[in-house]
Amino acid sequence: MKWKDLVFMEVVNYCNDIGSRTFSLKDFLDAKLQLFTKSKPQNQHVEAKIRQQLQFLRDEQKITFLDNSGHYTLRDIYLLDKEKEETQAIDLSKEHPEKREYLVETYVRNVKWAQKAVEVLGDFCLCAGCKNTFTRQDGTRYIEVHHIVPLFKGGEDGIWNMAVLCAHHHKIAHYGDDKTKYEIERYLLNEVKHRL
Ligand SMILES: [Zn+2]
Ligand SMILES: [Zn+2]
Repeated sequence: MKWKDLVFMEVVNYCNDIGSRTFSLKDFLDAKLQLFTKSKPQNQHVEAKIRQQLQFLRDEQKITFLDNSGHYTLRDIYLLDKEKEETQAIDLSKEHPEKREYLVETYVRNVKWAQKAVEVLGDFCLCAGCKNTFTRQDGTRYIEVHHIVPLFKGGEDGIWNMAVLCAHHHKIAHYGDDKTKYEIERYLLNEVKHRL
């Protein structure tokens, strides 16, 4: 197996093991270095090789570097095993990209950034003056987390690209006409920038 394919396969395995798309290089190496050393015994610079492959994977937009301290995230609409279970009732391949993005986003709620978005941005819709929410049985307020620039358009899976929206405004952000979607995207990027 080529180095790049091997590293990507192990990143996917690792994210499945830890149940998160976001991981640190240090933890990844702690868990996987031995495995790489075993499968490529002729290579003397395994760690450098892994770092290089991660750069290639970034160039191909399969992963994103979240910061300068070695945190990465699997990107696009790739699904972890447990997320696949949640979406198995929906045949994603039959959906249009926008609908698919919405469905994936709706079901992928256990991602670190989604929880962080509610912590940082609160549980009221970011649209000006909107109070459209309700209290759930467990006492928490209902809110939806939204990728402002969609992942399939190159948006990033990070707090700076997350918004909290009520169900109605969330639908508008996905299903409005191009002008409406553009306006809400600009508005949300600006709003989040000021709140972070
Ligand atoms: Zn959304
Ligand atoms: Zn709203």
